[in-house]
Amino acid sequence: MVQKKTAKLEMLYSMKYFSSVSYISFLHSGISGYPYPLVYLLMLFHPYITFQIIHFFASSFFRMTNMLSIRDIAPNMKNWCCIVTVQEKQQVTDSMGTPTKKQKLIFYDSEGSRVEGIIFNADIPKMSPVLQVYRKYRISNADVRSIPPKFQTSDLTVQWVITAKTVIEEVNREEDIMPVKFTFTEFADLAQYMDDKSKSVDVLGVVISSLEKKTITKNSKQSNVQKFVLLNEQSQTVMLSLWDNFLNNERQILLNTIQAYPVVIGRRLKVNNYNGVSLSTWFDSALLVDPPIQEARELKNWAMRNTKLIASLIETKSYIKYNPELFLKADQKTTLICNVSLSQKTTLVKAKISFEHIFQKYWYMSCGKCNCATAADYDIEFTCNSCKQKSPVVPRCRFDVDLSDDSGVIPVSVFGDLAEKLLTFTALEAMDHFNQVILASCGC
Ligand SMILES: [Zn+2]
Repeated sequence: MVQKKTAKLEMLYSMKYFSSVSYISFLHSGISGYPYPLVYLLMLFHPYITFQIIHFFASSFFRMTNMLSIRDIAPNMKNWCCIVTVQEKQQVTDSMGTPTKKQKLIFYDSEGSRVEGIIFNADIPKMSPVLQVYRKYRISNADVRSIPPKFQTSDLTVQWVITAKTVIEEVNREEDIMPVKFTFTEFADLAQYMDDKSKSVDVLGVVISSLEKKTITKNSKQSNVQKFVLLNEQSQTVMLSLWDNFLNNERQILLNTIQAYPVVIGRRLKVNNYNGVSLSTWFDSALLVDPPIQEARELKNWAMRNTKLIASLIETKSYIKYNPELFLKADQKTTLICNVSLSQKTTLVKAKISFEHIFQKYWYMSCGKCNCATAADYDIEFTCNSCKQKSPVVPRCRFDVDLSDDSGVIPVSVFGDLAEKLLTFTALEAMDHFNQVILASCGC
């Protein structure tokens, strides 16, 4: 009988204790706000001993999950935790030639170090709304990878892959000043980046006005665009075109807050040659509206102290006009006239203007929207064959001159505002003069 009892006990002890009944529960405790999983292993041991509860304290777990700063988190590292703020979110983009969709973000930490975040495909709708710009989060155990040089769009070389499994928790809401330093290009220095596909710029400006949203068909693909007017503290304006994806989110924020002078940081914008110098968004651009940085706060404050100036800029629409102040730089390289080639989009020459042909018309009838010539009569509304929009017919100033330097002579047409300025007549005056004098004298 005793033997039988001993055998039974031995059998029970030889069984793995842990395999009998166990459960693990992860509990949240409020200790310093950390998710603090307590591991309870409840084991049923032996019929003669009642229950024994063993607490596996979470200390071992936390020795592995380290609170680190961004620069200490290396590729492939596991068991880390980091508090970051979302500096910016890019638009969702397609990868060239693949069905992969991705969205990139930039995070920074209290030291001012930055890292790229990336979300792919089906994880985008799940995780993108979780991460809002300028908010602070505790992120742990995202996949850490190095970014291959050809995919680096900024100076960042490490990427955290955010998936639906990544643990993200928002930390307190109070807004800190971003410890991140941006390098902004002055409006007056933009001209040197014009039409250079390999270069983009970061700019800071206050949005004071917007133009109408337009739909443009280019290479049988429809695009939407809306222009916003940026102003800097030197009272210079430049137009920023927001394309497609930017019209969904950022556009609405700007339009909703336009009375309060929203300050934007445009990142990785393209500089175009359109009516002088203009800016436009690009696939990897980002717009930071009212970012918590010192310069932005100062600019907003400046705008609020200069409401009269801003009101007059909006009223006179002076930003629509060509601004030679931004376009021409004293140190810009000029081309000799004999070297001017037609394939160049823009050329700067230093030349004498001569006016051989005095008997010119000095104006043409144009579409009020796109400046295209039309045979329609003055002041009627017509549908333009070029821009397909309904617009008024207006005279536009235009005349031809010769430009000459020591190397040669080239004929040039002068249009619009610049032509009116040189001529000291408006297009309307030129048209009236033409109709009264020229037509009368030839008896038409
Ligand atoms: Zn037109």
